[in-house]
Amino acid sequence: MNEYVIKKEDLKHNISLIKEKAGNEVIGVLKADGYGLGRDFLSSVLKEEGITSFAVAEVSDIEPLRKNVLDENDSLLIMRSTCLESEAEILVNNNCIATVGSLDSAAVLNAAAERAGKTVKANIKIDTGLSRYGFLPEETDIIESIYRKTPNIEFTGIYTHFSSAFTNEELTRKQLNRFLNTVEQLKQRGIDVGKVYAASSPALLNVSGTELDAVRIGSAFTGRVITKSKLDLRKIGVLRSQVIEIKNIKKGVSVGYSGDFTAKRDTVLAIVPVGHFDGFGYEKAQEITGIVSLLRRMLSPVKRFLKKECLTVKINGKTAKVVGAVGLTNCAVDVTGKNIKPGDTVEIDISPVNVSAAVKRTYE
Ligand SMILES: *Cc1c(COP(=O)(O)O)cnc(C)c1O
Repeated sequence: MNEYVIKKEDLKHNISLIKEKAGNEVIGVLKADGYGLGRDFLSSVLKEEGITSFAVAEVSDIEPLRKNVLDENDSLLIMRSTCLESEAEILVNNNCIATVGSLDSAAVLNAAAERAGKTVKANIKIDTGLSRYGFLPEETDIIESIYRKTPNIEFTGIYTHFSSAFTNEELTRKQLNRFLNTVEQLKQRGIDVGKVYAASSPALLNVSGTELDAVRIGSAFTGRVITKSKLDLRKIGVLRSQVIEIKNIKKGVSVGYSGDFTAKRDTVLAIVPVGHFDGFGYEKAQEITGIVSLLRRMLSPVKRFLKKECLTVKINGKTAKVVGAVGLTNCAVDVTGKNIKPGDTVEIDISPVNVSAAVKRTYE
């Protein structure tokens, strides 16, 4: 009976603000089941809002997306390189833009396209500091040789991905310069690099000048991205449940596993069937929105203790504290003096990426 409620109007509002802010090509990132919103739902709404470029992180998303939502003309980037023949074949056969981030991945892709008698589009990935996929900036000789020796690959772009655009503008600018420098070197060798792009949500929102030719946006659509930007993004998604039981406990009684919480007064508890299995009860800070506060908390457990930070939910629209440890499928909420009954609506603010896939998504 728990459901995760997603308001389509709020999503559309966010998409339109982002399009305006970017002012260039917006590539809709659909990874992690569309940031927990539902891959097909997110891509459909993006399409309704006029977006025609998309990106995924996994090859398994490609065929269903082409079948369910995207037209043949919509561009679809896979944001990692692959050295697996089977994956390269799927990219070739579904008109994708592959990522080439190594010599091996270029060879595998070119061979797959050659076998199919096709050319395949690809973008070069430069690793400017995240140290996952991509060529290092100094590997321009290798990159040049790939441009020249893979006749079945049509290179249409080049990109990088920032490591710290949430919090570190200076480092992001360094990465941007490293990237643009590599692009410049390739151009000087007479290579047509195509579309040059870098920014994800935090870069677009926090570091001006990273827009370049296109931006790859995911988390900003959900309104849950670390930023001081004044952009009025709405947080998407609320986990909705109900109060199942009301329980009266005496002062001194403890609540939940390990008895972490002991009532300081006679207390009325609302028992709510939401727990870790739904994605609830990890540190609030583990949400995408809270990486900064997570760091702060790690530094200062004492301060945290003094501030008595705790999980909260809303019951009938009013904030109430979760007491005791959250269980796998249940938690207890202090509703003393709040006149709460079984059946009352419980709403929990939780990022869609943290909500278990087992929780039904409802679109309003
Ligand atoms: C996830 C991802 C993005 C989008 O990042 P957001 O911060 O969610 O906008 C862009 N590029 C790459 C390579 C990614 O992995």
